[in-house]
Amino acid sequence: MFGLAIHGGAGTLPRAEMGAEMELNYRAGLRAALDAGCAVLQAGASSLDAVTRAVVVLEDNPLFNAGRGAVFTHDGHNELDAAIMDGKTLKAGAVCGVTHIRNPIELARTVMEHSEYVMLSGAGAEEFALSRGFAFVPTSYFHTPERWRQLERIRSGDARLSALTISHVGTVGAVALDGEGRLAAATSTGGMTGKRYNRIGDSPIIGAGTYADDRSCAVSATGHGEVFIRAAVAHDICSRMRFGGRTLAAAVREVVLEELPALQGDGGVIAIDRSGEICMEFNSEGMFRASRKSSEDARIAIYRP
Ligand code: ASP
Repeated sequence: MFGLAIHGGAGTLPRAEMGAEMELNYRAGLRAALDAGCAVLQAGASSLDAVTRAVVVLEDNPLFNAGRGAVFTHDGHNELDAAIMDGKTLKAGAVCGVTHIRNPIELARTVMEHSEYVMLSGAGAEEFALSRGFAFVPTSYFHTPERWRQLERIRSGDARLSALTISHVGTVGAVALDGEGRLAAATSTGGMTGKRYNRIGDSPIIGAGTYADDRSCAVSATGHGEVFIRAAVAHDICSRMRFGGRTLAAAVREVVLEELPALQGDGGVIAIDRSGEICMEFNSEGMFRASRKSSEDARIAIYRP
């Protein structure tokens, strides 16, 4: 028995602006990542391997705001954040503000497995990456025309952006349960378009955007990072299950549909518990998402049914 859920961000385009072809492209991107992660689980590998693989596929897809398709900072750079957590050992690894790493989730995992630290940032994280044999990509690797247009719209003060519709589109994440009952969570992002001052969001913060604990569940979040940090979203969901006796669905709904809206926190989460129950909930217009349990067909969706 295994389960995998992935997301490609909660800040989707309004339904009216999403053309049929674009929707097909997003669905194909989600499908490819889901299939890649499921293949890992079917082969008997760990939930950590599965979430890493699914997130790598999403990072390599320019449609999503992570890896190749990362959004631009106010100054026209790309600063990437990622985190991963192992629910069995509660070990975790995270990187933030990296600029030359093609797959930040792999670096986060290397921090977890091959350093004495949990979180590394900026130049130091890249120095560590070099010491572990990572190849650097040139910064131009992350320069995609669509993201550049989004930055220009932000810089021009386009009023429609105040609703955060495109400023934080497309963060990616995965949660999984493997055949041995181990949970894992992973999240990767370019953050918010036009961010300044080396801003870091919730995605690489253990307990905010990413958390996994075999005693409760694994969570990956997407949305307005500042609020998700303040609400300690991922850890809060785990705690409601572990100490409050909530089901996964109840814990997720309370946080996403009650706690976050009270703080004007736009976004959603994907989560899976130790019984393989999967929950994908959001309070925004949509959330790119997909899931599959070993015994069932894949589910892929963007908006509400
Ligand atoms: N949560 C991410 C951040 O604030 C953005 C997103 O999920 O779209 O950096």
